[in-house]
Amino acid sequence: MLSWEQKRQLQLWDLAHVWHPFTQMAQYAQTEPLIIARAEGCWLEDVDGRRYLDGVASIWCNLFGHRRAEIDQAIREQLDQVAHSTLLGISHVPAIRLARKLVELAAPLARFGEPLTRVFFSDDGATAVEVAIKMAFQYWQQRPEDQGGPRPRKTKFVSFGGAYHGDTLGDVSVGGVELFHRVFQPLLFETYRAPQPYCYRCPLGLRRESCVLDCALACERILDQHQEEIAAVVIEPLVQGAAGMIVAPEGFLRHVREATRRYDVLLIADEVAVGLGRTGKMFACEHEEVAPDFLCLAKGLTGGYLPLAVTMTTERIYRAFLGTVAQRRTFFHGHTYSGNPLGAAAALATLALFEKERILERLPERIQQLAQWCERFRQLSHVGDVRQKGLLAGIELVRDKLTREPYPYDWQMGQAVCRQARERGVLLRPLGNVLVIFPPLVISAAELDFLCDTLFNAIREVTERN
Ligand SMILES: *Cc1c(COP(=O)(O)O)cnc(C)c1O
Repeated sequence: MLSWEQKRQLQLWDLAHVWHPFTQMAQYAQTEPLIIARAEGCWLEDVDGRRYLDGVASIWCNLFGHRRAEIDQAIREQLDQVAHSTLLGISHVPAIRLARKLVELAAPLARFGEPLTRVFFSDDGATAVEVAIKMAFQYWQQRPEDQGGPRPRKTKFVSFGGAYHGDTLGDVSVGGVELFHRVFQPLLFETYRAPQPYCYRCPLGLRRESCVLDCALACERILDQHQEEIAAVVIEPLVQGAAGMIVAPEGFLRHVREATRRYDVLLIADEVAVGLGRTGKMFACEHEEVAPDFLCLAKGLTGGYLPLAVTMTTERIYRAFLGTVAQRRTFFHGHTYSGNPLGAAAALATLALFEKERILERLPERIQQLAQWCERFRQLSHVGDVRQKGLLAGIELVRDKLTREPYPYDWQMGQAVCRQARERGVLLRPLGNVLVIFPPLVISAAELDFLCDTLFNAIREVTERN
């Protein structure tokens, strides 16, 4: 444990030098910084030795807990071989093995379309989607003659209101979170925006009981009208994460997929948050029998250990990039640490754990437990909507349950609730008025009860106080 002076020094240096992401630093500077020093299983521990349940899996990426012996070991063994070597023009052992493993893992999706046989490595979710966007764009510029030849006018993208695909300018261009993205508007390329599949606050003013998936139809209409210039649709399958854990109505993804097929448009599935078991299946696309043209994975790929991401695609896409050097069909994109060997080793160990521990078979019990808690959250007088898919949930607080009037953003109600929960040993991070439950997949029954019970009481305390 650190001495009081050491801890104080760290806090001062943190406030003096560390610019935290997605954080209003003026506000942060008025609080005592929480400094994590170590972790074990689903628990984080701060410099004072206080423990917190990691209720959002260190921002949606930890799958099997901290300090998993198998992943620790895999990284150490890789460290004894080589920590980093490039994939530009040469290869390395763990990247090859991981690519092979991922192709096997995605093979079941081929029942619904073309197999995903090609793996492009990068570092994080933002780059995985950025890569898919650039590949889709370039594909149409140089589509081979045997596939119908180039269609250079197909340069535009379709995305959904509320979408979040990462923070690079390409990803922000296809993003739809007003709060994050508006300021960058002048820097962005133009994108067609389809309505957000957000049933609780339907942008079309409809009700799920009586609508005919009009939001999906609206997307289809955009494709119908602009197919000549649309390269791809970018989607977060089943759940829009950063928008507030917005669970799309059943059939939405499949409908969008069918529309892209009909209008010769590619589909980019951003499974950065929902991939790798989170929804109860390995990939969210499986729920609706969808095989995308691009599958983006990151966050949980290394079990929450190291930054590593992949963009997987089909032979058809890949072949468009083949040619002589003079033809300049090369995909001129890469990152220094693309496919880093330590990350690849961690990912291999992570995927092995899915099999060894039969994670997907064990998940339904925990998902059911979360569902029961969701029923209880629904009863609270300031909870307007509760959305669950697999082992994730979003609990939307409202000022008025009847009118669905939201709490004003400035009230920071989500944050206030999370502060309460933190006092009681549960670490959470809200999305505006939405409380997020996104624990490691291996959270125990007792830990999940503790998480939900703590959150339940925190919501009551903050929203029913006056
Ligand atoms: C987190 C996230 C990203 C961005 O991933 P980073 O690793 O943070 O760059 C992209 N898409 C979705 C759906 C995400 O949830």
